[in-house]
Amino acid sequence: MIETCDSPGLLPIHSAISDMLNQINPVLESELIELDEALGRILAEDVVSNINVPPHDNSAMDGYAMRCDDLADTNQLKLVGTAMAGVPFKKEVLAGQCIRIMTGAVIPLGADSVVMQENTQAKDDSVTFKQIPEWGNSVRRAGEDIQQGQVVVSRGIKLTPAFLALIASVGIAEISVIRNIKVGLIATGDELTAPGQALNDGAIYESNRYALSALLTTFPIVLFDFGIVKDDKIDLKAVFEQAGSHCDLVLSCGGVSVGDADYVKEILDELGSINFWKVAIKPGKPFAFGQLRGQLSNAWFCGLPGNPVSSYVTFEQLVTPVLQKLSGQTVTATPHFVAKAACVIKKRPGRADYQRGIFYRDEQGELWVKPNGKQGSGIMSSIANANCYMVLDQDAADIQQGEAVNIQPF
Ligand code: AMP
Ligand code: MG
Repeated sequence: MIETCDSPGLLPIHSAISDMLNQINPVLESELIELDEALGRILAEDVVSNINVPPHDNSAMDGYAMRCDDLADTNQLKLVGTAMAGVPFKKEVLAGQCIRIMTGAVIPLGADSVVMQENTQAKDDSVTFKQIPEWGNSVRRAGEDIQQGQVVVSRGIKLTPAFLALIASVGIAEISVIRNIKVGLIATGDELTAPGQALNDGAIYESNRYALSALLTTFPIVLFDFGIVKDDKIDLKAVFEQAGSHCDLVLSCGGVSVGDADYVKEILDELGSINFWKVAIKPGKPFAFGQLRGQLSNAWFCGLPGNPVSSYVTFEQLVTPVLQKLSGQTVTATPHFVAKAACVIKKRPGRADYQRGIFYRDEQGELWVKPNGKQGSGIMSSIANANCYMVLDQDAADIQQGEAVNIQPF
């Protein structure tokens, strides 16, 4: 049983994540797309190679190919032809012979080794070798990168530029990927004003959606931006209903903390089953998770706190695994590194802190980290000018200078 807002304790961040991941089933629908449109998409099926890469033994250098054994007794061989990349030498290289060969050209029958051009001297039809090669020198073997029948990229992988090149190298131009997931984004609050407009008394500029929609661009999603919605029950309910029936996941920010959550809580209770959690994470304690019931289908829902740093941190730490699982991606933990605290880092036990820090190497190569200024949940410059999170354990108290600190580089 998970602890909720009403329970005395806070919900540890790993429990919040595993609770969400246990409920969510990945989207399974896939589509065939061209490889050059597949950056950032999630592979729906293993890609298997029908060929060896490289397809044949070929030269790693511009130089001369010969039978290595020939150079045991002499350093001079007869030049009998040329092999270019894509234009093979069609005959056999016989004893006492060599051919000029370019990088990527097929190693002809008979030859087994290549000496780079810089270690040779050619005159008329004779080549003098200044280096005696080992057998197989400068030869790239057929299949040394990928073997026929091998899984080149596994399903669930998010396609990076290198994976696209790897798939292209086995001759595949069309692949099956999970369809983009539909994500709705809503900002709520009477005080929120769109940038570019005049600011009324007591109002502030809405900024969270700019960070969140930008963070979302690194996921395979289609964004439905519902803009700013006032703290008005009828308006808010209509927008949540619409978002719930069009999206796979709805993200809102604002209105989930206990004080002002009443509307959002009331509406979400009517539209679905939502838990309002107090997660043991700082910043970002209030967080809502559950399902919105739509007319045709259901949408998952994550309610982020409104404070700018809190919404950013809860997106990165809590929503990222949700997006990964939902979009069929293998869920991966963000890598941590260990640095030494460059000064005392203030920390109260009870919640896992994601303080914003600056890490650097000193002249001895040692990694250090220090907090990036004020750590309040409204201080967005603490993220913008930082280069890492300092991840401080839930139970930890103040960190002393020189103590080890886990960092997550941005
Ligand atoms: P709430 O979570 O609605 O109680 O909001 C907490 C704080 O975050 C308040 O100071 C809000 O004005 C501020 N806030 C809420 N939503 C946004 C937003 N989209 N952009 C910037 N600040 C916000
Ligand atoms: Mg509010």
